[in-house]
Amino acid sequence: MSENRVLIVKIDPEKCQGHARCHALATELFELDEFGNARVRGSGQIPPSLEDQAWIARANCPELAVEIVEQAKAPD
Ligand code: SF4
Repeated sequence: MSENRVLIVKIDPEKCQGHARCHALATELFELDEFGNARVRGSGQIPPSLEDQAWIARANCPELAVEIVEQAKAPD
């Protein structure tokens, strides 16, 4: 990936059914609400050290609710 691009993780709340697999696999990226549905921590920007976990979480969401998109990095 280019140095000018970042990966962003998102959860589609319409698809999420609260299995919490994403949270179990990447606690640093996801948190659970009071109903057990997942939401992204912070801005959703994935630090390079957590990219593998983000892709694993995406692959293990049975509802295909986890999305990873590449975006242009905001200027410093
Ligand atoms: S694994 Fe998918 S369905 Fe389950 S809590 Fe995470 S986003 Fe929601």
